[in-house]
Amino acid sequence: MGKQSAITADGAGRDVRTRCGEKFEAFLDLTPTPAWVYEADTFTLVAANEAACSLYGYRREDLLGVSVLDLCIEEERELAGQRMTDPDQVNAAKEIWSTLCSDGRIIKVMMFLRRVSCGSSHCIIACVIDFTEQKNASLELKRTKIFLDAVVESIPSMVFVKDAVDGRFVLLNEAGENLLQIKRQELIGRTDFDLFDPEEAERFRTADREVVALGKLVTIDKEPLTTPAGIRLLRTQKVGVPDLNGNPRYLLGISEDVTEKVKMEERNKHLALYDILTNLPNRTAFFDNLSARLKERKQRTALLFIDLDGFKRVNDTRGHKIGDLLLKQVAKRFERFSAATGSHVSRLGGDEFAAVLDCPDAEHARLFAVDLIRSLGEPYNLSPGQRVHINASAGIALSPEHGLESEVLLWRADLALYASKASGRGQASVFAEAMEDEMRERNELEIALRQALEDETNLFVFYQPIVDIETGEATAREALIRWHEFERGWVPPATFIPIAEQSDLINDLGVFVLNRACRAALTWEDKARVAVNMSARQLGRGTLANTVLEALAASGLSPKRLEIEITETALLVNEDQTLADLRQLRAMGVRVALDDFGTGYSSLSHLRAFPFDKIKIDGSFVADAVERSDCAAVVKSIAELGRMLGVKTVAEGVENTAQMDCVRRLGCREVQGHLIGKAVPEPEDRLRVAELDREPLLRVNG
Ligand code: C2E
Ligand code: MG
Ligand code: MG
Repeated sequence: MGKQSAITADGAGRDVRTRCGEKFEAFLDLTPTPAWVYEADTFTLVAANEAACSLYGYRREDLLGVSVLDLCIEEERELAGQRMTDPDQVNAAKEIWSTLCSDGRIIKVMMFLRRVSCGSSHCIIACVIDFTEQKNASLELKRTKIFLDAVVESIPSMVFVKDAVDGRFVLLNEAGENLLQIKRQELIGRTDFDLFDPEEAERFRTADREVVALGKLVTIDKEPLTTPAGIRLLRTQKVGVPDLNGNPRYLLGISEDVTEKVKMEERNKHLALYDILTNLPNRTAFFDNLSARLKERKQRTALLFIDLDGFKRVNDTRGHKIGDLLLKQVAKRFERFSAATGSHVSRLGGDEFAAVLDCPDAEHARLFAVDLIRSLGEPYNLSPGQRVHINASAGIALSPEHGLESEVLLWRADLALYASKASGRGQASVFAEAMEDEMRERNELEIALRQALEDETNLFVFYQPIVDIETGEATAREALIRWHEFERGWVPPATFIPIAEQSDLINDLGVFVLNRACRAALTWEDKARVAVNMSARQLGRGTLANTVLEALAASGLSPKRLEIEITETALLVNEDQTLADLRQLRAMGVRVALDDFGTGYSSLSHLRAFPFDKIKIDGSFVADAVERSDCAAVVKSIAELGRMLGVKTVAEGVENTAQMDCVRRLGCREVQGHLIGKAVPEPEDRLRVAELDREPLLRVNG
């Protein structure tokens, strides 16, 4: 029989209908829940309500009198027989039973039982809850909807759905409510035109239509949306949702608020392209701009490479805060220049700046640079009492003539800048081919000098006497370095000393001369002092006293016989530390002379800053003093100043008797120059020097 119902429609139940059962039926018919009553011991159905009859497809009389177990499928009958006598067991288990309809369909049900007495017999009343598949499915659907609603609700982006035809909102999640600051009950049923200003609404509407027409997902980046909290930027993805026939039904949108992300991106972009301190475009931006201009090749492009003269001094002496303030004000002037000339200015780093501009020729570019240098040279009022004066130098390279690539152009502008600095600061120079040769030559010389210092070959110290103008006796001899480079011959100190100063070589060179000089002086019978030149780079490091001590100790020379010559420029950088070094020397008994006075700054404040033992008046004044009264006046006033301060004055570069007479008349106490004696090597070097003098030059054009 299988799952076929065991109940036959023969009306067997009519006889078993009891009065008790009738009463139950009257009562049970009131409820739409299928229910029946059966005897607890025999399982015989004594009542069934209409809902039960219609659920199972039986007439009532067919059901009555049959066993309730017959309603169960065969496989479950035995278990049902054990359970269904005990309502507590069945209720607690919440089991689902498969029951049979009259047509053989199986209905899954849950039964809720209760014991009732009916006269003398014990009966059980059962309420049957239908659990058929169909019902399950609708329940599942309901659950799914709840689940999906929860998902949509918890998405942190705004989710909205509009009617594709009339544009009315049909859904908005919580994130949407928060973003738009509107409750969904106020929004649903309304269109963009009810909610946003007409222009914005029109924009949304047009976009929606396009999305629906396109039939695929569309992403709109940085879509502006006006909200009560201000304009927000959205990244919106929209897609049309068709109905079953494929016609546009809804428009689904998800909008992420990317305002902060966009701001952050912009900030990062700014940081990558702008200098933090001055807010000028940085090196990267400079190269971007220059490369773009060069690619266009429409106009002649000029690159101005500008370096501040004296910035380091401000930074070192007044502190980094003042240095920063100064750079900010410099940047302001650059910005003004940029606005006035339509140029692109940038800070390349430190105190280096660049300006890129279109201009017809080199002369225009040079005039621009001169203007810029003049404006940068005006005093800066950094804070009350902090007035600073600096200068600037510029190097100029032009495209196309000096290069088509930004790196080449910058390199060449840098060379031109170097030339400007070398020719006295505050200048603007345009790149020339020769500068590249000079740079190559400088590099080669640096390598050769490094080697010469390492091997101590062909490096000599010559000595030139400084004599008392009255007695003609040598009071001192100045130690002057000499270098014979094997390809180039004798290289003038004026050529290689600056190269040594720009590298670390000046320290080794200084130590070499100092040691040689102390050793040489010890051999001099007249016990004259030895004067050794110190370059600015050797001072202010706190190491000079030790170096001098070591040289004195190694040679055994008395400190009293050593004289150190420094130029005023040494006092311009690190003045405090330099003075500290000089005081240490003085404390050791070493004398200090101020060299080349009259050139450069010739500031009285420098004479006051340290009690120099000697002032050496630069040879250029001495040479002109005979013929030019102004030069004579300078020499005379320095000599008088020296006399009043109790400092000896020395006239340098005295080449003839006219000059000798002149400086004597003007009051100089000592003289140095070719007239008295040229610089000569130590006796032990004479032979070698004479050999080198005769040696043919390997490099004729060097
Ligand atoms: P300085 O210290 O002013 O040295 C004097 C310069 O004038 C020397 O040039 C000397 O040869 C030159 N001179 C002396 N008398 C006459 C003259 O009558 N006529 C002319 N025309 N020149 C005269 P030099 O030896 O070529 O040195 C040039 C500069 O190089 C020196 O100027 C000094 O600043 C620097 N220098 C030389 N040796 C050393 C050194 O060992 N260390 C450092 N740091 N610098 C040095
Ligand atoms: Mg000197
Ligand atoms: Mg000198």
